[in-house]
Amino acid sequence: MSSDPVVELRDLEVHFEKDQGLLESVLNDPDVVGAVDGVDLTIGEEDVVVLVGESGCGKTTLGKTAIGVQKPTGGSVRYRGQDIWDAKRGDGDVPFEEIRKSLQIIHQDPGSSLNPNQTVMKTLEAPLKKWQSDLTQADRRDHIYGMVERVGMEPATDYAHRYPHQLSGGEKQRIALVRALLMNPDLILADEAVSALDVSLRIEMMDLMLELQAEFGTSYLFISHNLSNARYLAQKAGGRIGIMYLGEVVEIGSAEEVLQNPQHPYTKVLRWATADIDPEDEVEDPPVRAIDIPDPVDPPSGCRFHTRCPEAREVCTSSCPSLEMSEGDGHHAACFRQNPDHEYWESKELASEAPSLADSD
Ligand code: SF4
Repeated sequence: MSSDPVVELRDLEVHFEKDQGLLESVLNDPDVVGAVDGVDLTIGEEDVVVLVGESGCGKTTLGKTAIGVQKPTGGSVRYRGQDIWDAKRGDGDVPFEEIRKSLQIIHQDPGSSLNPNQTVMKTLEAPLKKWQSDLTQADRRDHIYGMVERVGMEPATDYAHRYPHQLSGGEKQRIALVRALLMNPDLILADEAVSALDVSLRIEMMDLMLELQAEFGTSYLFISHNLSNARYLAQKAGGRIGIMYLGEVVEIGSAEEVLQNPQHPYTKVLRWATADIDPEDEVEDPPVRAIDIPDPVDPPSGCRFHTRCPEAREVCTSSCPSLEMSEGDGHHAACFRQNPDHEYWESKELASEAPSLADSD
């Protein structure tokens, strides 16, 4: 990762009011869901970060906030040093439109993001007309044909006149990728962009995205619930994996470090649940004290993972560990066990309801 950040998140917080019935909303204060809490993340030039976590952990909200689609309720989001929401209010040095053009998104379901009534050519011409208005129609079309062929859809003249329903899922994702790249973006948020594809197509699409990263000099923020995909992307790109739990990033580092040397007990759970990470390293029982994910409206006190953590001690129920972003190997985990001098080690163990992983450390 270069030292020049493209996007910087500092102490980011995104809270939502939960929908309530009319009577409930009159009688009670609204329930608040803390989708993202206290996240720091820096994405550099040509960087790759893959956020992984269970459904509802806040990874999509974090991604959308990083590209200026979702407004944070606290903390800051900066694009090349410019606060995105100051820019949106017209209060910045970089125009908001330029920021939005530089921060693109590819959705999980391109069927819903491609206009069903527009041909591929119309879909791809629109952003070029807006952002490169000096191009003639012939130049614009040549550029689009070149990009469509670059993503493996040949002959481009045939595909250009198709509607989305005449494309396969993989072809729609390729068109969504072309549309994002036509903006020459600094960062693409790929939100579960390959999860709906068959395994063989998934690998092809991930390879293509990484190949084009080098050509276009863009960075990626991938969102995935699949640790195998995360490993493939982060390992191949030399990027990082960030593990999210209940709105917080609890571990981050290189694919190798996070998966071969996990430090946070929750990362060990995800790794346990992904058989193909290391089939020889089989542990039969899930390394958690409880299977159920706590209610995000009322998250546990202290460390949010303490209700499920097999290593939890009393101090974990009242104190909250932070993700120490120290210098060094870039591998960080938000767990008291990281600090050999922490009072955790003197604290009383909580009653164990499932086998502990202490022996595997
Ligand atoms: Fe488990 Fe405590 Fe570490 Fe949280 S701080 S992950 S509860 S050991």
